[in-house]
Amino acid sequence: MRAAQPTAATPRHPRLFSKQNLQLQAFSLPPAAPASGIASSCRLPINLRSFLAQQLGCESDASDDTILKYAAHADQFTLNKLARAIRRYSTALAHEAWVQCSVPVISFAEAHQRGCAVVLCLRCARVDFGDGALNDHQSNGCVPITLCRKETCQTHASTTKDPVADVPERVQRLVEEFRALRSAFGLCHFDLDCYLRGSHLILMWRPLG
Ligand SMILES: [Zn+2]
Ligand SMILES: [Zn+2]
Repeated sequence: MRAAQPTAATPRHPRLFSKQNLQLQAFSLPPAAPASGIASSCRLPINLRSFLAQQLGCESDASDDTILKYAAHADQFTLNKLARAIRRYSTALAHEAWVQCSVPVISFAEAHQRGCAVVLCLRCARVDFGDGALNDHQSNGCVPITLCRKETCQTHASTTKDPVADVPERVQRLVEEFRALRSAFGLCHFDLDCYLRGSHLILMWRPLG
């Protein structure tokens, strides 16, 4: 007797983001009215936000809320068009070269509470924790961005109710500041972006070349 063959093969889902292993929900619109407690974790990646703002005809610096409000009031035709645009955008993204770092959100939260420095370097493609973090990325070609600063974090952290829920918004704000500052000096910001995937914060940017 032959051993029983396994039954029907597991259905295979199309892997939309095979190259970077990104997940669709990372690029989907968050619920139009998220519960207030989780609002901070429903943030659009910066690059997607500006793409959506463009598609919807909002100001280029429109906030997540503005975009969600536009989307909530859009007719079905516009929403379908938008959904197709997002798919095109996601496909294009998956075919482009991106560098990414994945860091557990809890690591950010703990560092923030302990007032421990956190530095991402776009050149070295790593996130370092601790006092020496910034000094380690001062060499030629390093592009460091401080994601947690000892002096400013300790006082702020003690007033934070939920340091974990706080992380995505805080890091995204720092990334936005980094982009704005680099642009102001005529420097490339490499489309640095961050978003939440499960329990990890994903930082992604274009290769420095
Ligand atoms: Zn911090
Ligand atoms: Zn470096």
